[in-house]
Amino acid sequence: MSAAKAQGAFTKVIGAAAPTSAERLLVLFGDQLDERSPALTELNPDRDAVLMVEVRDESTHVPSHRQRTVLFLAAMRHFALTLVERGMRVRYVAIDDPENTHSFDGEVRRAVKALGVKKLIVQRPGEHRVMAMAAAWKKSLVETEIVEDQHFLCSPKRFREWADGKKSLVMEMFYRSERKRLGVLMDDDAKPVGGSWNFDKENRRSFKKAPSAPAVHRAKPDAITKEVIATVEREMPDLPGRLSSFGWGVTRDEAKRSLGDFVEHRLRFFGDHQDAMWTGEPFLYHSLLSPYVNLHLLSPMEMVEPALEALDEGRAPINAVEGFVRQIIGWREFIRGVYWLEGPGYGERNSLGQHGRLPEFYWTGETEMRCVRESVGQVLEHGYGHHIQRLMVTGNFALISGVHPRAISDWYLGMYVDAIDWVTLPNTLGMAMHADGGVVGTKPYAASGKYIQKMSNYCKGCRYDPDKRTGEGACPFNTFYWEFLVRNEKMFGANRRMSLILSHVKKMTRQEKVELTVSAGKLREGFGIGDVSKGTA
Ligand code: FAD
Ligand code: SF4
Repeated sequence: MSAAKAQGAFTKVIGAAAPTSAERLLVLFGDQLDERSPALTELNPDRDAVLMVEVRDESTHVPSHRQRTVLFLAAMRHFALTLVERGMRVRYVAIDDPENTHSFDGEVRRAVKALGVKKLIVQRPGEHRVMAMAAAWKKSLVETEIVEDQHFLCSPKRFREWADGKKSLVMEMFYRSERKRLGVLMDDDAKPVGGSWNFDKENRRSFKKAPSAPAVHRAKPDAITKEVIATVEREMPDLPGRLSSFGWGVTRDEAKRSLGDFVEHRLRFFGDHQDAMWTGEPFLYHSLLSPYVNLHLLSPMEMVEPALEALDEGRAPINAVEGFVRQIIGWREFIRGVYWLEGPGYGERNSLGQHGRLPEFYWTGETEMRCVRESVGQVLEHGYGHHIQRLMVTGNFALISGVHPRAISDWYLGMYVDAIDWVTLPNTLGMAMHADGGVVGTKPYAASGKYIQKMSNYCKGCRYDPDKRTGEGACPFNTFYWEFLVRNEKMFGANRRMSLILSHVKKMTRQEKVELTVSAGKLREGFGIGDVSKGTA
C-alpha cells in the first residue's frame, strides 16, 4: 500500500470508528499498548470508548529523537487499528489534526465535552507529570478512576511494602525476594538454580578480537509507518536524530519476532559479554527489547519464559539466562519501584551539587573522544545504546565532568527509543549521576578511562592517551575522574564502599590536587560545561 493510501486507510478506518458519545472514556497513553489489559477488556464496546492522542508537547517538552517519536506514533496507530478491528470505538487525534490542542490535558478536556463523558478511566501513567494531570481531571473535570497498570510484575504498593523499614534499598535483595515470590530460576528445594543467585562476575568479559555478533532482526516500515515518518519529518523538522535506519517493530507481532530472534541467536552469548563495547557494533548480543516491553507490546514474563526454556533445553547457559532474567525481574522492576516510591520531587534532586551544562557534542557526536563519539553517534543513528555505553560512557562522562543531573536526564529522556520517565529518570539521575543521594546505587558508578580501555577497543586510535591523567593529550575521563574524587572527597568520606579508592586520593600531594583541579577546569571550559558549582546549567 502506498503511504498516501495508508494515510487514507488509517484515517478512514479510524474516522468510521470514532464515537459521538461515551459513558466511560479510557485515556490510553502511547506506552500502554497491551490488548490484554483489564482496563481495555472491561470496557463495554457499545457504550464506552478509548481516547488516543498524538500531541506535539510530548515530543518537544524535551526534544525527542525522530526514531523515538516515530516509534510511539506508528505503534499507537497500529494499535488503534487493532482495537477497531476488535469492535472498540476509538477517538484518535492525529498530530496533523487541525483541531488538536497538542497537550494531553487539552485533548482530554475536548473529548469529555464532545462525547458527554460521565467517567474517565486512566491507567497509572509512566510519569509523575501526567499523573498530576489525571489527579486534576478527577478534582475538577469529571469522575475519574485511576487504575493500576497490570503490565508490571511488582506494583508500587508491593514495592513500598518490601522497602518499608529498610535503611537502604539493595536491588540484589529485591531481586532475590521477587525470584522466590515468582518461582523463577528456583529449584525444588527453594534454592537458586545453578547454585548461585547471581552470575554477575561471569558477565564482564571483554572481547579479545573483533566480535562476530549475528545481525539483529530489524523490522521493515510498512505503509502506515512510512506515513508517520513523512508526517514527523513535515510536522517536527527540528527534532534530533536520524530516521534513515528506522527498523523498530511497531506491532506486537514484530515485537514477538524480535524476541524470538534474540533468544535464538544472541541469548547464549548475552551473559559473557554484557558489559563489553566495540567500535562499529551498536547492538552486540543485547536483546533490543526494551522499547517493546516499555510500550507494553511484550510483557516482562513473555521475555523471561523463552529464556528459561532455552536454559532447560541446553540452548543457553545459566550465566546468560540468569543475567537476562536479573535485568527484567530485578533491575527493571526495582527501578520502577524507586520511581513511584520516591515521588514527584525525585527529578529535582542534585545531591552532589553539580551545575555544569551539557556539552554540545551530546547532540552532534562531534568530539575527539572516540568512546563518546561512538556511543553518541549510534544514538543519533538508532536511538539506542546498550547499558554499559549509557552508564559508563555517556553517563559516566556527565557525572565526573560535573554536568547538572537534570540536563543529562532530559537528554536521555529524549534520545533513546525506550525512554519513558519512570525508567529513564532513576537510571539516569539515580544510577548514572548519583544525584539521588544513593537510593539506586550505594556508590557512584564513576570510572576513569582505564575501565573503558579494558572493556572496549575505543581507546585504540583515540587522540587521547588512556594512560595519562593530566597534561597534553591526557584522557579527559582520567582527569575528570580523579578531580571528581578530589572534589567530593569529604562527601564520600563516610561511604565505606569508597574507602579504598579514596585512600589513593588521600596520598596525593596538594600540588597534584591543584594540578587536577586546574586541568579539569580547562577541559570544562573547552567542552562548554562551565562551572560545576555555580549554577551555569
Ligand atoms: P538488554 O541488555 O538486552 O537487557 C534486557 C532487558 O532488561 C532490557 O530490554 C530492559 O527491559 C531490562 N533492563 C536492563 N537493565 C535495566 C535497567 N537498569 N532499568 C530498566 N530495565 C532494564 N532502560 C529503558 O528501558 N529505558 C530508558 O530510558 C533507560 N535509560 C537508561 C539510562 C541510563 C543512564 C542507564 C545507565 C540505563 C538506562 N536504561 C534504560 C536501562 C538499560 O540500559 C536499557 O534497558 C537497555 O540498555 C535496553 O537495551 P536492551 O533491550 O538491548 O537491553
Ligand atoms: Fe575514551 Fe579516553 Fe579511551 Fe579516548 S582514551 S576512547 S577519551 S577512554
